Amino acid sequence: MRRCFQLARLGAGSVSPNPLVGAVLVHNGRIIGEGWHRRYGEAHAEVNAVASVRQADRHLIPQATLFCALEPCFHFGKTPPCVDLILNEKIPRVVVANTDPNPLVAGQSLEKLRAAGVATEVGILATEGRYLNRAFFTWIEKKRPYIILKWAQSADGYLALPGERTPISGPLAQRLVHRWRAEADAILVGTNTARTDNPRLDNRLYFGKSPLRVALDFAGKIPPAAHLLDDSLPTWIIGPERQGTWQQTHFFAFHEAAGINARINWIPELLEKLTQKKRAILLVEGGADVLRQFQESGFWDEIRMLANPRFLYNGVPAPGIPEGAILTERTQIGADEIRIFINAANARYP
Ligand SMILES: [Zn+2]
Repeated sequence: MRRCFQLARLGAGSVSPNPLVGAVLVHNGRIIGEGWHRRYGEAHAEVNAVASVRQADRHLIPQATLFCALEPCFHFGKTPPCVDLILNEKIPRVVVANTDPNPLVAGQSLEKLRAAGVATEVGILATEGRYLNRAFFTWIEKKRPYIILKWAQSADGYLALPGERTPISGPLAQRLVHRWRAEADAILVGTNTARTDNPRLDNRLYFGKSPLRVALDFAGKIPPAAHLLDDSLPTWIIGPERQGTWQQTHFFAFHEAAGINARINWIPELLEKLTQKKRAILLVEGGADVLRQFQESGFWDEIRMLANPRFLYNGVPAPGIPEGAILTERTQIGADEIRIFINAANARYP
């Protein structure tokens, strides 16, 4: 099952809003086939695992066990149901970490397999499987994007020197952040960050795609020469429409943004819009005010904090880790320590 999870992770950044799934076929303790869901709309992990079996081993499939990170699919989506593949291949035993929470599946595949005489086992490394697919579970169960708040802070707890762009993290951590961008479906910054840092918000330092760029600009203050207005990538500007010939840049003036509760009310509206466009993972990169608004609204699922040992002595204070945040990962990368927290109110983890 751990091998399934390793394989599944290889799909990160290419399969959303689908789950990360890896599958392994085992015969007498030997892996005879393995595969993962590589790209949205393409073959599922089970299909790739069966296809990977050598000709000389194919006769072993009807005696093998299929391990899978998630319950095989039951429905015709972009591909035929994997449950039928398992039955056609006469695989006698199927082991999964979790049932698929998607109402189109929801245990039906396991039922169909059992009814056909296939031995099934559910719940092997279930917690790890749920953690691996935490974005997918949130997408299905809460019908909104999975929200990751990310920031880097100095040893004395500052995000930046006042009013100036202040690189905090080392080169390895920067590369990791670009990987996170590649794995996200959308990335958000507030007006002050857009003005002070003039970020590109693209993925330049890692493999894979760049996410949809989203910037708050309620008062139309982002300068026209800013990278975020260069029309080089799909971009949403939450603010008044501007004159120009835009191909990939869209302006949205949110109704609530003008209201008295604008501080928090724009968040649900943005989440709804992202959900409509099937953007299932949102990475929020700041600044301090925007990160705090997400924390106050309760709309956050994960915090990724990069702690650097350098001191700044003054500047913009970091938002802090809210009550109910559970530390799940702690990794040293170069000079920086990466700490990942999960919102206990929004998730079920030990
Ligand atoms: Zn499938």
